[in-house]
Amino acid sequence: MKIHQLSAADAIASLNSNPQGLSSIEAQRRLGEFGLHRVEEVAGESILLRFLKEFTHFFALILWLAAGLAFLAEWSDRGQGMAKVGYAILAVIVVSGLFSFWQEFRVERTLAALRELLPQQVDVLREGKAVRLLADRLVPGDIVLLEQGNNIPADCRLVEAFGVRVNDATVTGESLSKIRTAGPSAKEEIIHAENILLAGTSMVSGEAQAVVFATGMHSEFGKIAHLTQTGREAVSPLREQITYLSRLIGILAVAIGLIFFAISRILGVPFWEDFIFAIGIIVAMVPEGLLPTLTLALVLATQRMAKRHVLIRYLPSVETLGSTTVICTDKTGTLTQNRMTVRRVWLGAGLECPPNPGAGQEAAALYRPFFMAASLCHDLREGDQQGRKVLLGDPMEIALVETAERFLSALPACKKLDEIPFDVSRMRLSTVHATPEGPMLFCKGAPEMVIPLCDRILDDGEMRSFDSDLRAKVRQAQEAMAGQGLRVIAMSYRPLDDHWQRAEVEENLIFAGLAGLEDPPRPEVPEALRKCREAGIAVIMVTGDHPFTAKAIAREIGLIRSDDPLVITGDELRALTDTQLRLALDTPEIIFARVGADQKRRIVEALKRKGHVVAATGDGVNDAPALKSAHIGIAMGITGTDVAKEAADMVLLDDNFASIVNAVEEGRAVFSNIRKFLTYILTHNVPELIPYLVFSLFSVPLALTPIQILSIDMGTDSLTALGLGVEKPDPRMMQRPPRSQHQRLFDWPLALRAYLFLGAIEGAI
Ligand code: ADP
Ligand code: MG
Repeated sequence: MKIHQLSAADAIASLNSNPQGLSSIEAQRRLGEFGLHRVEEVAGESILLRFLKEFTHFFALILWLAAGLAFLAEWSDRGQGMAKVGYAILAVIVVSGLFSFWQEFRVERTLAALRELLPQQVDVLREGKAVRLLADRLVPGDIVLLEQGNNIPADCRLVEAFGVRVNDATVTGESLSKIRTAGPSAKEEIIHAENILLAGTSMVSGEAQAVVFATGMHSEFGKIAHLTQTGREAVSPLREQITYLSRLIGILAVAIGLIFFAISRILGVPFWEDFIFAIGIIVAMVPEGLLPTLTLALVLATQRMAKRHVLIRYLPSVETLGSTTVICTDKTGTLTQNRMTVRRVWLGAGLECPPNPGAGQEAAALYRPFFMAASLCHDLREGDQQGRKVLLGDPMEIALVETAERFLSALPACKKLDEIPFDVSRMRLSTVHATPEGPMLFCKGAPEMVIPLCDRILDDGEMRSFDSDLRAKVRQAQEAMAGQGLRVIAMSYRPLDDHWQRAEVEENLIFAGLAGLEDPPRPEVPEALRKCREAGIAVIMVTGDHPFTAKAIAREIGLIRSDDPLVITGDELRALTDTQLRLALDTPEIIFARVGADQKRRIVEALKRKGHVVAATGDGVNDAPALKSAHIGIAMGITGTDVAKEAADMVLLDDNFASIVNAVEEGRAVFSNIRKFLTYILTHNVPELIPYLVFSLFSVPLALTPIQILSIDMGTDSLTALGLGVEKPDPRMMQRPPRSQHQRLFDWPLALRAYLFLGAIEGAI
């Protein structure tokens, strides 16, 4: 039978593995036998072809033509020194071709090094412990641990699945997500089986364990990779702009050459002399070093950004970054440290209990379900750090588990029977466990989402009806905690009978209490926010947390300073029309709280329609549409899911808001640097032309021969321009408002300044 037709246990056995995962010795042995798990890249263009390309682009073609004309002239009228000019042009072609080739090579090497900064990692069970591996170390038989937002690293068969849905558009082209389960499948074809996850697809929801059965080029994705990799990469907008620019300058050069040729002929300069000179002018005005220098300037900027914990995935974003006018940012982990500690515990209908042991032993006995929920209802994994047992996962859940452990000394192991995963629209997580008292459901999450599911409340060890007075009391307690900047989580539970159904467990719950967690702001954030204010960049917090919590944190970090900032909740946002939303966005201090899935995208769209250049952060699967829609989508490197990272233009390696501001600064610097060297390259054409103008108009002896012009050009066009391209950001750069989105790299003011002002001065000197 095929692997998808077997039971989960048999599927694992058929790969000579076991539910605890492989041993590290066996994994090592298999790695030797099956090799690294890599989809081998189809060989790109050969080096030779790329080398030849440097001699056949637009500028090179103009030069070839010029050289050809020079030799033609020599052939038709010997002894005028035309051949010398021809050879000089050939030398220019060779030198600038080699220079470009070298630059391109550096670009590629830098980009490859940057890619290494964000390796794909997977969590794998080895000898019963979760370990994090580089994805290329996977071997057949490995048990991988997957959760919402993960890319599927290799072809694998589910052995345990809670609420799993996958998006397999990369393989099948269908964009709707599909349900996946762990049971055996009756299907004939493996790709249609409901229990198979294919490499290159992604998990949009749920929690799962799966056993790897094909790695590397044996996987389905490996097989189709040959097809997909051969597709050509689309030309990026910046490249387009540069190509357009170079055409423009090339045509300008030819036109000026022709005009000069005509003027001189009219003034009676001998034909051949004039001809040589026209060619010289054209060659001198063609900025050979421009294209590679531009790309290199961008790439070096991305390298500098990487040192400041920002990874650029899409090169043209570097330029867009500089014109950012508004940043929509997450709160948890970006503005705050995501280091959670339980500060307050509020049990049942009003027992406030210090979150440290000793004082709370009595409470622990009366409110045992509260602490059981805190310790069991989570997605954490047990990992191993230098022989010590550690918990891996959401810091908030770790804090809750640790607090519960302090109160409940002996908690028997309770196997997780089922789970309804957390997602942003539900804002809660439910798990079912086999406890000594029988199966039990635990549900924790945002109080607004959990309390409506509760009809009873645990009060002093007894069950009471959860009437409106008690509800009001609980809400007051929640709001008081949130007002202190704490994240408030409600805990609830429900004993189940043996015939429980997954679809019906999240109802008639018993409310057990609230936990208030503190998450301190990042220390760099207030300074970064001050920089944004100076630089004319608005910052809007968009969070899933309670409005009071959001407001308290925003005030603490200096994001809001007025007395009555506008706080819009997800529910209020749903009630606003697009026009109302756009008008609301005119408020200087605005916060979005309790926003649900896909509302971030709406905010981004509204800002875009107001003419803003929007940068937006995100980490979850639900954030992907907003990241794609924003001018600059920013994913979190640490807490971000694979799906979010893939949708983003840039990744914050340290999840830190301050790094975004640094990146904007670099973006502004790059733009101004590119304009600096454009100005420089264009400027020096004028002093090269003036001697000839003077020579032909006033019959003053010629100061520069074409060959001299060419050699000056060779020495000044490339390396020196590069120097300007890599200048460090000027600190005053962040004290100006963002440049207009419509300002292009090359525009009339720049051309006039270079040719008429700077060029004239240089020429006169
Ligand atoms: P943020 O914008 O602060 O990152 P999220 O969108 O991640 O907020 O979460 C929104 C709300 O969902 C939180 O305020 C919290 O009440 C709830 N929540 C977050 N994580 C969990 C979890 N692991 N289990 C249960 N509830 C959670
Ligand atoms: Mg979050």
